[in-house]
Amino acid sequence: MEKLSYVSDGSKTAWSTYLQQIDRVAPYLGELSRWVDTLRHPKRALIVDIPLQMDDGTIRHFEGFRVQHNLSRGPGKGGVRYHPNVDLNEVMALSAWMTIKCAAVNLPYGGAKGGIRVDPFRLSEGELERLTRRYTSEIGLIIGPQKDIPAPDVGTNAKVMAWMMDTYSMNQGTTITGVVTGKPIHLGGSLGREKATGRGVFITGREVAQRSGIEIEGANVAVQGFGNVGSEAARLFRAAGARVIAIQDHSATLFNANGIDLVALGEWQSANKKIAGFSGAQEIDDEAFWDVKMDILIPAALEGQITPQRAEKLHCRLVLEGANGPTFPQADDVLTSRGVTVVPDVICNAGGVTVSYFEWVQDMASFFWSEAEINERMDKIMTEAMVHVWDKAREKECSLRTAAYIVACERILMARKDRGIYP
Ligand code: GLU
Repeated sequence: MEKLSYVSDGSKTAWSTYLQQIDRVAPYLGELSRWVDTLRHPKRALIVDIPLQMDDGTIRHFEGFRVQHNLSRGPGKGGVRYHPNVDLNEVMALSAWMTIKCAAVNLPYGGAKGGIRVDPFRLSEGELERLTRRYTSEIGLIIGPQKDIPAPDVGTNAKVMAWMMDTYSMNQGTTITGVVTGKPIHLGGSLGREKATGRGVFITGREVAQRSGIEIEGANVAVQGFGNVGSEAARLFRAAGARVIAIQDHSATLFNANGIDLVALGEWQSANKKIAGFSGAQEIDDEAFWDVKMDILIPAALEGQITPQRAEKLHCRLVLEGANGPTFPQADDVLTSRGVTVVPDVICNAGGVTVSYFEWVQDMASFFWSEAEINERMDKIMTEAMVHVWDKAREKECSLRTAAYIVACERILMARKDRGIYP
């Protein structure tokens, strides 16, 4: 296998995690394994320089990326991340996970991802807008409604998507709403998109809990990340009768054995932009989060959180990966050996991109659906995809992650094989 020279080989990187996941699925792919190396090579990666005039008149330069990992099944699809740790290695891994995710739920997309190495909370709104517009212009070479469709991810939101849509449209000379998803509703956005990822975490969790004999009612749930994904997933588990006993974000780790009041915490967070200081729970040490006795863990923040050491002590029955790439492969092995079921990111958090797909379809048809229709269709797609992966895991006697990769890789590599190599 040819090694990519521009990516560091450290075993802790996200790309290395992804490569190990591919190594694990390869033996299950039969004749298609001849094509599996294609998944170890992103199709296209663009690095852009973004010069930005700050409000104080100084000029700063930011590094931006857009990686199209695989386009065999359709246009690229995947979010844009604004975070100080963004680098090419991370964006490559995130783009590859989008390839697997879109195929695992059978959406007609390839995988892509973008990002800017920036702390968005340190920029004014004007700076953020200028940064977004220049980034969009620079990656305008390779994005488009039939080429590659960005969406929100960590550090970006509907407002950023509106600026991206407008910038692309201004450059093209006509309004093209389908170039990004996750837009505001009045600009071609879809009802239900914002809550879709959290809903998908709940739906896949519900299906797997039921099949594993885990009662959601009365279960103790811990959530890492209280953003778009973690807060909605927590809310739905609470509504189904679970107790959310621990929540961690970048500012604090909260614990309350009787369950945290999510409405009060949401209000506190809106006002303070963090969960630290909330009086309805006890603040515990960040590392103590991993010692909490729980039934269900929802990592819904960043990758690389469940290390083998944390997996050894984790007291839980079910892990629902709301985040992309939260579990290291060696930690996966530890969890499996300890009888903990992991619903992998590529299926667990696919509700977001599923409703992104609905948004794109609605934009192209210029015909919009009701929220009830969207939630119903999403529930159907996610449930069917989860059950398919569950059955595959039983048939092959493998983990749900490997099963999801088998389902996805077969779809991607069949397309690759039948399209053939050009020229
Ligand atoms: N950023 C989200 C993800 O990781 C959504 C991507 C999309 O909607 O295209 O799945």
